[in-house]
Amino acid sequence: MGLRLYNTLSGKVEEFHPLDGNRVRMYACGPTVYDYGHIGNFRTFIAVDLLYRFLRQSGYDVRYVMNITDVDDKIIRNSARDGVTVQQYTAKFTQAFLEDSATLNIEQPVLVRATEHIPAMADFIAELVKKGFTYRTDDGSYYFRIAQFPGYGKLSKKDFAGMTDGARVDVDEYEKDSARDFALWKAPKPGEASWDTSIGPGRPGWHIECSVMSMEQFGPSFDLHAGGEDLIFPHHENEIAQSEALSGKPFVRHWFHARFLLVEGQKMSKSLGNFFTIRDLVLRGHKPSSIRWLLTQVPYRNQLNFTFDGLKSAASSVEKLRNFRFRLTSTQFPAGATPPMAQLADETIAQMKSALDDDLNTAEAQAAMFDMLRKANTALDAGQVRQDDVKSLLGALDKFDEIFGVLKDDDQPKMKAILDWARAEGREKEISPELTEIASSAQLGDEQVNRKLAEMEAARKARNFKSSDALRAELTAAGIIVENTKDGVRWRRK
Ligand code: AMP
Ligand code: ZN
Repeated sequence: MGLRLYNTLSGKVEEFHPLDGNRVRMYACGPTVYDYGHIGNFRTFIAVDLLYRFLRQSGYDVRYVMNITDVDDKIIRNSARDGVTVQQYTAKFTQAFLEDSATLNIEQPVLVRATEHIPAMADFIAELVKKGFTYRTDDGSYYFRIAQFPGYGKLSKKDFAGMTDGARVDVDEYEKDSARDFALWKAPKPGEASWDTSIGPGRPGWHIECSVMSMEQFGPSFDLHAGGEDLIFPHHENEIAQSEALSGKPFVRHWFHARFLLVEGQKMSKSLGNFFTIRDLVLRGHKPSSIRWLLTQVPYRNQLNFTFDGLKSAASSVEKLRNFRFRLTSTQFPAGATPPMAQLADETIAQMKSALDDDLNTAEAQAAMFDMLRKANTALDAGQVRQDDVKSLLGALDKFDEIFGVLKDDDQPKMKAILDWARAEGREKEISPELTEIASSAQLGDEQVNRKLAEMEAARKARNFKSSDALRAELTAAGIIVENTKDGVRWRRK
């Protein structure tokens, strides 16, 4: 059986079938680049990343597009406050978003920027004007008349009967329960960024961006549209209204929404002091791989409660996976295969697939992998593993990591980069001793560590303990932990 996904539009879990054979066209609402992204944003981006990775692993040819909202009310307000242009203001946070995504090992989508599509947005609005779905106010703003679009409310399942025709709103986000005609185009205000276009001067509303950019990429109808659950209304409801009003065709087949993340049981907010960016967590000494793992543990439709205890246990799960891989790759095994191990690997692959096919049940896929780890470790302890078993087990592990993306041990250089960034930004005070310690180990690359370890072993075998102790101390100072196991000496980074 193939992938089954919950579709917000139908309110049901459905079999996923793309409109065009094997091709999947998928669009996700990206960040509004007015600040550093927080863990809630990345909860959603990682959920979509997993979907993207799993679709590809399932054999689909996926084109994944994400927008960067680089003009909106907040951006205009903040850039004016800082006395810089919208472009200067957003360039910094767009860059930060790309860096944070790379830090979390998120695969990069095709990125499209709102400010690069303004003429197309004006043309789109002009078409809606022709079709009679809009009205223009005296100042030169354009609004979408929702009473004109009978399907309004079909995504958010709100009943807008009895709504006041002509009540309108010109902010991008508005009260969850009020249906309002929304701004497609906002007339210029003094001191605000504005563009001269075919429909007059001004700037686009937020919702029109995504309709225009997704349809430009994919045409009037496409397969998947994703975002956090807060986008269902009004953003996605409005996208559907604009797009279907224009094309007369169904806009998106399948709507994917990630549930909002909580922090220590509460809604994240700056005033509660529970608001964290990715950088905040790294400054406290947490590894990017632990953050990524934590954000994948709970299936996307369940509420994820972010806690620091959870982050610690995420670190230990990643550690277990990496240690297991190390154990398989650093030991010599006798030739051949044993039926139980090959079967274990195959079963694990099948279990992971059926878990992910089941509306991306990440928790179950991870449980299947840890089950394999436990059984394989027992077999390893008993000396029952052979060379070809190792290949099978590593095969399952690699397949798992194609989705979860935590096995590559590149936390240290990433953490070092964030430490350097904090210094450059004058935020030294936030750098924890833990981060300083971990980041210092990035000064030794894997090759260098391996070489020093080999020297250390040679010195020890030659009974030159002074020299081997000195090398060990040098490694320890660089944050490398050397362990003597019964499979031999190995190392890991702190
Ligand atoms: P924004 O930058 O505010 O436009 O948001 C970018 C993405 O993050 C959108 O898909 C939001 O739905 C999502 N998002 C924002 N806050 C949270 C949260 N607490 N939990 C999950 N997703 C969120
Ligand atoms: Zn959007």
